Amino acid sequence: MSTPKDEYSFERFHTSVGRFDVSGKTLLIPDMAPFGARLLAACFRAFGVGAVVMETYKGLVLGKEYTSGKECFPCQVTLGDILYHLRKEEERLGPAFSPENYAYFLPEADGPCRFGMYNKMQRLILDRFPEFRDVPIVFLSTGDAYGAGGLLPPEQASIFRKLSYVAVIIADVLDRIVWRVRPYERQPGMTDAYMEDALRSVCSVIESSGASLDFNRLHRMVEEITIETCAFLDSGKPRRPRIGIVGEIYLRSHPDSNQNIIRYLEDFGGEVVDASLGEWVNFVTYERAMKTRRRFKIAWREGDHTQLRQAVRQLLDLEIERCYQYWRQSQVYRRTLKHLDIQPDHSIRTIEKRLEGDHLFSFDIGTEAALSIGGALEYVHDGFDGIVNVFPFTCMPSTICTAVLKPLLHKKGIPYLDAPCDGTTQPNREVALRTFMYQAKQHLESRTAGENGKATKWQARH
Ligand code: SF4
Repeated sequence: MSTPKDEYSFERFHTSVGRFDVSGKTLLIPDMAPFGARLLAACFRAFGVGAVVMETYKGLVLGKEYTSGKECFPCQVTLGDILYHLRKEEERLGPAFSPENYAYFLPEADGPCRFGMYNKMQRLILDRFPEFRDVPIVFLSTGDAYGAGGLLPPEQASIFRKLSYVAVIIADVLDRIVWRVRPYERQPGMTDAYMEDALRSVCSVIESSGASLDFNRLHRMVEEITIETCAFLDSGKPRRPRIGIVGEIYLRSHPDSNQNIIRYLEDFGGEVVDASLGEWVNFVTYERAMKTRRRFKIAWREGDHTQLRQAVRQLLDLEIERCYQYWRQSQVYRRTLKHLDIQPDHSIRTIEKRLEGDHLFSFDIGTEAALSIGGALEYVHDGFDGIVNVFPFTCMPSTICTAVLKPLLHKKGIPYLDAPCDGTTQPNREVALRTFMYQAKQHLESRTAGENGKATKWQARH
């Protein structure tokens, strides 16, 4: 409950934005990647937290009304989602509506991305509604690699961290199964219809037994889902040009915000792979180890033994975490790769080496630009026929990425498209996507003809 003292002070950022225990509350999770958000909510429910994924994009008008336009699009979408949801709850419950029963989940990132400040900014906006002032905002942060300490009792937090990591990887694999099968399905809609049920089953297993960390059961489910969906493939349909998506994590994963770019690309003849959620989580762990190594070097130079001991201990912990993540990720991918050739995930170390080798960008600069540039080059290395960069209009890391990738991919003869998003529909969007797909098809033809030893017009031009 807020007090008159902290009503209009910065204290609110500490008293109402933080790591509060969410046990017994309804945790409101904004929708992002459809599989990922639902599996994450199921992980919280496995620990008795009544987590729900909020309806999304219905409150965009509200999100725009209460922002100035200087914020990036993900901020407007998530703000709209929470205002819309809380208003609906107020309408539904009438006098029984009690803000203390809810907690709003809005993760943050450190570094130059303003998204790290959006939970504070959204606090200021929720505070303008007296009826929503007592809805606390809780977050996980890149600062400690999304540890759930503070949100759950300490004995549950580390179990939650393991479970939610595996859930994120399962979400990635389910997405990749859909993207591999849907463009070649025997009957339109059969993959989506099946996956809706499959997702519900995975959620219910996570919710009922996830806290026991019985991953074998989940692995078996992933394998069964793969086998079932393989049967949807029409073997008579030729392989399409493969398109790799990079960019800002929220927008590229949230279909409403990116105006269903994956489906459009599929409708225009592509097979699409979006960068995974796991890639970002692994990058966060990798980056923390980099920063710790830097601290270690400074402490060594200064002969600071206390700092040295701390850095060594932290480096060991991070190495264990990295190996654990790698092991768990491989386990889930292996179950699917046995039956279906989905795109394996990029290794962060390989991405870094690729950037270093070509002197294109440095992990020291940080931000998603490193992953997007390196990820795009990995797609090219794996024989993709086009790259799309999806990002919030004016996003700084994504603009850097455009500046590097556009000339580079042009030189390599790989079709490339920027897809900035701000909620408006650009009149030429469909034409741009169709043209891009036409180029990607030409690239595929040229590549496969080239593999057969023939030169083509596309190759002659590039
Ligand atoms: S525009 Fe890009 S860098 Fe800025 S806050 Fe949004 S996502 Fe982060």
